[in-house]
Amino acid sequence: MQLEGVLKEVFKKIDTIEQRGALAAYIPELAKVDPKQFGVHISTVDQKHFGMGDYNTPFSIQSIAKVLSLIFAYRIVGDDMWKRVGVEPSGTPFNSLVQLEADRGIPRNPFLNAGALVVADILLSHLEHPKDDFIRFVQSMSDNTSIDYSERIAQSEKAVGYRNVALCNFIKSFGQIKNEPEAVLDFYYALCSLEMNCKDLSETFLFLANNGIVVKNNRTILSEAQSKRINALMQTCGFYDESGEFAFKVGLPGKSGVGGGIIAVHPDQYAIAVWSPTLNKKGNSYKGMKFLEEFTTRSELSIF
Ligand code: GLU
Repeated sequence: MQLEGVLKEVFKKIDTIEQRGALAAYIPELAKVDPKQFGVHISTVDQKHFGMGDYNTPFSIQSIAKVLSLIFAYRIVGDDMWKRVGVEPSGTPFNSLVQLEADRGIPRNPFLNAGALVVADILLSHLEHPKDDFIRFVQSMSDNTSIDYSERIAQSEKAVGYRNVALCNFIKSFGQIKNEPEAVLDFYYALCSLEMNCKDLSETFLFLANNGIVVKNNRTILSEAQSKRINALMQTCGFYDESGEFAFKVGLPGKSGVGGGIIAVHPDQYAIAVWSPTLNKKGNSYKGMKFLEEFTTRSELSIF
């Protein structure tokens, strides 16, 4: 596989560059992670799977879970989703409150904390056992029944989650959160605490490179049009207020999390997950961004 050769070369190069950036210490448990870990895994639509480094080590996927919860909710409510949450990049930090006042509690997009709280609220309204149903969905997508929430990380975030409490209550004040804020926040922290490794992530997201259909069993997760919309949102809103920069340098739809993970999708080709825990100033994995920039440049495949 040509991509395997490129991945090996680029991994070796990025592995040796100076480790820059900082851990997401605002969540105390994430400050304890060994910053030197680095892993990559690729899964292709022609069923090749290849990883390097710490690709089998589970880590806190944080905001990457916002894509999975969006997909899960989109399957349930369809295009009604877009009545509750917008599809515009915000240009503001992920935990910002500023636009919500003018927008009357409709978050700009589902990958802001505000948007993910609304998606969590939608799931709570439709599911009898939201945490169980969601984890089973993720386990089936990744083919790994050991994937779970981390109570330790969820509690650690909850203990300092003042801004998320403010966001949730603020949206509730506009009537755009239907359940009790405490229940929504509890589910939101659980979603963010999900621990997966690079292999789990690239396997899970591969269906977005295959028009919404799981490659290994032909299961339809989303329609072709819905799958395209999720990729469009990842392209425009997946990297906090560095989404333009990511499109410019890497050129793939993707999503990052403050645990240092990044998932990126090349439609019709592959899904790739990279993890290195230290973050640049915009909150994206320092080495992860460097790796993907180099990988897409050298592999000479582009969606543009
Ligand atoms: N749970 C994190 C928070 O709400 C998610 C941050 C992220 O990965 O963007 O702060």
